[in-house]
Amino acid sequence: GVGDATFRVVLLGDPGVGKSSLVGIFRREQDRETQEQQQQVMYECTLTVDGEDTSLLLMDTSESEVRKLTGSSDSPMRIGHAYIIVYSVTDRSSFESASELRIQLRRTRQAENIPIILVGNKTDLVRSREVSVEEGRACAVVFDCKFIETSAVLQHNVRELFEGMVRQIRLRRDGA
Ligand code: GDP
Ligand code: MG
Repeated sequence: GVGDATFRVVLLGDPGVGKSSLVGIFRREQDRETQEQQQQVMYECTLTVDGEDTSLLLMDTSESEVRKLTGSSDSPMRIGHAYIIVYSVTDRSSFESASELRIQLRRTRQAENIPIILVGNKTDLVRSREVSVEEGRACAVVFDCKFIETSAVLQHNVRELFEGMVRQIRLRRDGA
């Protein structure tokens, strides 16, 4: 059934915001590398959330690959079932890029109601923060997506992020 399907979750965001670090936390814990081509690295993991297992195929991306594949049917913008858009709370330009990615995603996948979570990473770097939590939250409201702040280094809120993604996917699946 649909519950047994594997969902492709694509991570997008500026270079250096922490995409690979966020995915890497799962990689070390439990995952298995399933595919490596054109710098697209996928990790399969199964999360137990609310007593039910869901398999995710986490797809880490790099800037060059996203640019190279733009417009093609293999574009990360086209192949995801769900998206995690990451910025760094210490880098305002990465926050602006996150908005652009959201707009691009909406344009590419117009009619689809795709789960998207906006992630402000690097909350541990308190003194270099450039984007407040209120700004992040407000941006998520404007762009109609979920929002969470994380620290990949402290592994703070990372499990919550991926559990939240599983719940978003299930909401769509269950038609709620
Ligand atoms: P990517 O280019 O988006 O994949 O970013 P990376 O995961 O490669 O991380 C870029 C740099 O930021 C690396 O040096 C990471 O160690 C660092 N980094 C990633 N996440 C965090 C975080 O939450 N806090 C801090 N302090 N550094 C982080
Ligand atoms: Mg990376």
